[in-house]
Amino acid sequence: MTGHDKVFIGGHWRPAVGTDAIDVVNPADEQVIGTVPAGSAADVDAAVDAARSALPGWASTAPSRRAELLMALSGELALRQDRMASLITAEVGTPIGFSRRVQAGLPVTMTQLHAELAADFTFEQRAGNSLVLLEPVGVVGAITPWNYPLYQVVCKVVPALAAGCTVVLKPAELTPLSARLFTECIAAAGIPEGVFNLVTGTGTEAGEALVRHPGVDMVSFTGSTAVGKHIGSVAGAAVKRVALELGGKSANVILPGADLAQAVRANVADVVRNAGQSCNALTRTLVHADDYEEAVRIAVAEIAAFPPGDPADPDCRLGPVASRTQQEKVRDHIRRGLAEGARLVAGGPEVPDGCDKGYYVRPTVFADVTAGMSVAREEIFGPVLSFMRYEDEEDALRMANDSDYGLAGSVWAADEKQAITFARSMACGQVTVNGGAYNPLAPFGGYKQSGVGRELGEHGLMEFLQTKSLQL
Ligand code: NAP
Ligand code: MG
Repeated sequence: MTGHDKVFIGGHWRPAVGTDAIDVVNPADEQVIGTVPAGSAADVDAAVDAARSALPGWASTAPSRRAELLMALSGELALRQDRMASLITAEVGTPIGFSRRVQAGLPVTMTQLHAELAADFTFEQRAGNSLVLLEPVGVVGAITPWNYPLYQVVCKVVPALAAGCTVVLKPAELTPLSARLFTECIAAAGIPEGVFNLVTGTGTEAGEALVRHPGVDMVSFTGSTAVGKHIGSVAGAAVKRVALELGGKSANVILPGADLAQAVRANVADVVRNAGQSCNALTRTLVHADDYEEAVRIAVAEIAAFPPGDPADPDCRLGPVASRTQQEKVRDHIRRGLAEGARLVAGGPEVPDGCDKGYYVRPTVFADVTAGMSVAREEIFGPVLSFMRYEDEEDALRMANDSDYGLAGSVWAADEKQAITFARSMACGQVTVNGGAYNPLAPFGGYKQSGVGRELGEHGLMEFLQTKSLQL
């Protein structure tokens, strides 16, 4: 890759003004795998200028042409899929098989599907004597996290570009290398200069400068609720549009009569996916008192099938967490669960045997978790599952909705109708019914403190559009 000391502005890799650098560390062996510039406020200024200059041309490019260029982007991502997968495994610690399929593979499909959606989208409609126009919001500042680094970039950049917006991206400090490879794809696809710009750097410097920049019309953020609240307040004060995809503490509700083994196994697989670093991870399992001990037994047996190991090994299903900070944070949450009286039935706060190097944690299951405990309330972002007991359906619903978060949920029942009725009452933006398949066009986003706005599909595209009406 070219220009590791450079940022991508106005269609060119150019030296960063900021002289600090960020080392990227492989969480499996703690080795430095690359270095990128820590962009400064001056770099953000230059990037926003480039995005503003490119805006009129891109906004007036036919939507079908924009979609064509995004199809080309999908092709470039596909060409680099293996390289991208290895890179993300090295940056995040995601097991290589999952990296190929999901971290690197899914964004190829997502880009293609959203290009197609935008090609067919109606940007103008009549309403009585009015012509209603959906116009691009303008320059978008996109700030992304490290857990699904390419996917989260694509979820913002592709719909924003499809809508006719131009973008400045500030990716997570932990994962700038995949963002650089994405940028190489943007350039190779022939997307015009200045339409997409990349400034690597820290949240507190480059991120903050981007959020506060008067030339940015909208901030699209994915990350922690704490930072999301701050960004929302800064954007709100400037009357900027803001989209926030934040954390979660999602419930998996297993109703009496459901296939218990299937529901618990799926839940364990979900919570170890990407070492538990998924905002929509189902981290609270709610089981009826009669099925409870059996469910806990199944979980304990199942989680033993996920020993932590080297993510570069094709057989690995659970790698390290992404950083030393995350490792300490997860271990700390487990210690708190113990101190609060939760029953530890698998895992624990110790580093797994034979894992002295790398940021490994033990996949952990707590039983007898009650509503007040931190392991029931706080996002852990690690492979930690909490079992909670309910007495009847009403109790289950109250417990499921007893959260500051409302990102996702899941319900299992013998009868699909019963499951759908329950899902309708859940206070969250997305619900998986009896293990329903992931849909890349389904709107995704949170109720309550899990966020503002939606990503993906038509709803995701609409986030980047503003409405004008002409009365004729
Ligand atoms: P974070 O601090 O919220 O970071 C997300 C992004 O925001 C990163 O690019 C970050 O830069 C940037 N940022 C941080 N402070 C900023 C500021 N003041 N202004 C503008 N941008 C700023 O999340 P994190 O540190 O990566 O992880 C902390 C916790 O957040 C995790 O343990 C997890 O609970 C949660 N999280 C949730 C999601 C999700 O998908 N909902 C994803 C990741 C993390 P830096 O990279 O320099 O910090
Ligand atoms: Mg941070």
